[in-house]
Amino acid sequence: MPQEKTKPKDFIRAIIDEDLRTDKYGGRVHTRFPPEPNGYLHIGHAKSICLNFGIADEYGGLCNLRFDDTNPTKEDVEYVESIMEDVRWLGYDWGDRLYYASDYFEQLYQYAIELIKMGKAYVCDLSPEEIRQYRGTLTEPGKESPYRNRSVEENLDLFQRMRVGEFPDGSRTLRAKIDMASPNLNMRDPVIYRIMRVPHHRTGDKWSIYPMYDFTHCLSDSIERITHSLCTLEFEDHRPLYDWFLDQLGVYHPRQIEFARLNLSHTVMSKRMLGQLVDEGYVRGWDDPRMPTIAGLRRRGYTPEAIRTFCDRIGLAKRDSMVDIALLEHCVREDLNKRAQRVMGVLHPLKVVIENYPEDKVEELDAINNPEDPSMGTRKVPFSRELYIERDDFMENPPKKFFRLAPGREVRLRYAYFITCVDVIKDENTGEVIELRCTYDPATRGGDAPDGRKVRGTLHWVSAAHAIPVEVRLYEHLFLKPDPGDVEKGKTFKEYINPNSLVVLNPCYVEPSLANAKPGERFQFERVGYFCVDSVDSKPGTPVFNRTATLRDTWAKIQKREAKNQ
Ligand code: ATP
Ligand code: MG
Repeated sequence: MPQEKTKPKDFIRAIIDEDLRTDKYGGRVHTRFPPEPNGYLHIGHAKSICLNFGIADEYGGLCNLRFDDTNPTKEDVEYVESIMEDVRWLGYDWGDRLYYASDYFEQLYQYAIELIKMGKAYVCDLSPEEIRQYRGTLTEPGKESPYRNRSVEENLDLFQRMRVGEFPDGSRTLRAKIDMASPNLNMRDPVIYRIMRVPHHRTGDKWSIYPMYDFTHCLSDSIERITHSLCTLEFEDHRPLYDWFLDQLGVYHPRQIEFARLNLSHTVMSKRMLGQLVDEGYVRGWDDPRMPTIAGLRRRGYTPEAIRTFCDRIGLAKRDSMVDIALLEHCVREDLNKRAQRVMGVLHPLKVVIENYPEDKVEELDAINNPEDPSMGTRKVPFSRELYIERDDFMENPPKKFFRLAPGREVRLRYAYFITCVDVIKDENTGEVIELRCTYDPATRGGDAPDGRKVRGTLHWVSAAHAIPVEVRLYEHLFLKPDPGDVEKGKTFKEYINPNSLVVLNPCYVEPSLANAKPGERFQFERVGYFCVDSVDSKPGTPVFNRTATLRDTWAKIQKREAKNQ
C-alpha cells in the first residue's frame, strides 16, 4: 500500500536513524529476537519478530534468533522447534545466527566471577522468602542482607561450590551488590544466579546454577554485539540494571529500547494462560485454530503476509493499548480476497430438485476462479437435476427485504440458470422443509436472461450427485469478553471462554474440485467465507475445512464509528 510506505517513522526507527547519523555503532544495525522456549509463539511475538527482523531488512542489518533458555524447568525442545518453524513461516531468516543463551553459560559465569572480584556481587544465604521480605516496598527502603559483606575469597569459594552442586536448591543465591535503598526495586541487590539442580535441554546436568534473565540478557546482547535491543515496556524499569551490568563489566554496550506489547481483544496473550488452555483441554492443542498462536493462525488459514501487514498497521507505541481483533481479521480477508480461489460449498444443505431438468443429464459449467485476478482462470462445475443450496437461502414466508428463494420466486444459481420454486416438501412429523421442487429456464444458461428480465438473488449451490461431503469447523472468538485477562473477583479467565468458539458442521457439501485440495490450501466459499484445508485431520479425498474468516468486515464498521466519535 503506497500510502503506508510514506507514513512517519516510528520512534525506534527515528533512534536508529540518529545512531546511524552519529555513527554510534559504526553504521551497524543488529537486532535479535529472543524467545524463551517455554511455549509456542503467539501473535504478540509476531509483532516483535516483524519489528526486529523487519528493521534488520530495512537497514541492511542483521537479526539473530536467540533462545533465552535459562530456566530448564519450563523449557523444552518441542518449543525450540516450533519457534524456528514459526519464524521461518512468517518469512524471516536468521541465516547462520542461531544462538542460545545457554551457549554463554561459561562466559556468564566468568562475568559473575569478575563482579565478585570487584566486590560487586556476593553469595547470599537468605531464603527466597527472606529475600522478598528484605527487599522492602515501593515506599519503604529494603534491608541489607547479613551476608552482603562477605569477603571476596569467601564469595568465590561459595559460588564455585554452588556451581558444582554442593548446596540444596534455593539455599543460596548470587546477588549483585547495588543499593538496597534504590527507589527502583530491581536495583535492590537483584539475584543473578540461583541453585537449580535440574538438567537442561542443551547443557544436560553440567550446571547446578542458572543465571537470571536480567543478567543473561544484557550480556548475551553484548556478546552478540547487538546494537538495538528492542523489548516490551515491562522491561523499562529493568533498563538501569541492564546498563549497570554492562557498565560495571566495561563491555560492549547495546541500547535497550522499550515498546508497547501487543494486546489483542477477545484473546489472551500470555504463554502461561495459553498453556493452561492446552493442558486443561479447553482447546485441542497449541495449534488449535482458535488459539492466537502462530501455529494456530497458520492452521486456521491465516497467511504470513496478512500477519505482517497487521503488524505493520498497528505500528509502535510507548503506551500499552488493546488492538481490536477485527483488524487482524480485516487483514486476512484483504489478503485472501486477492489470492484465494472462489469455490462453492454449502454449509447447511437443503435439497433442490429441478423438475424440468433431465434425470441423467450433467452439464459442466464455467466458473470464475477469482474475479479480482483474471489470471487465476476458470474451472468447470457440474450441474444436474438434484442440487443442494443453503438452508437460509430459502424462506417460506419471506419478509420484505428477503430477495432469495421463496415459493413462486425466481432466483439465479451462480454460473448456472434461473430457477423458480414451485413446491415445498416438508417432513410430515416436524413440519421442517426438507426439499424444494423448482423449474429452470434453459434460456438462462450462464446466469443471464436473453429477454433482459432481472432477479434480485444469486445463490451458490452444488450438484448433489457430485458434491463431496466434508466436515467444516466454524470458529468464533475464543473469549466472549473483549479483555479476558481482566478477571473479575472470584472468577478465572477461563470462565469467559466462548462456548460457541468451535461449531462443527457435518456433512457440508462442496464442489468436486475440492477433493484434491491440499492441506493448508485456502479458498473463498462464495457468499460464505474463507476456509482452509485442515493440515491435521484432513485425509486424501476428504478434506476437513477450517473457517478462516467470515466475509463480514467488522473492522470497516468500527473505523466508521471511530471516525464519527472523533
Ligand atoms: P509471555 O508473557 O507470553 O510468556 P514473554 O515475553 O515471556 O511472553 P518471550 O519468549 O520472552 O515471551 O518473548 C520473546 C520476545 O517477544 C520478547 O522480546 C518479548 O518482549 C516479545 N513479546 C512477547 N509478547 C509480546 C507481545 N504481546 N507484543 C510484543 N512483543 C512481545
Ligand atoms: Mg519474556
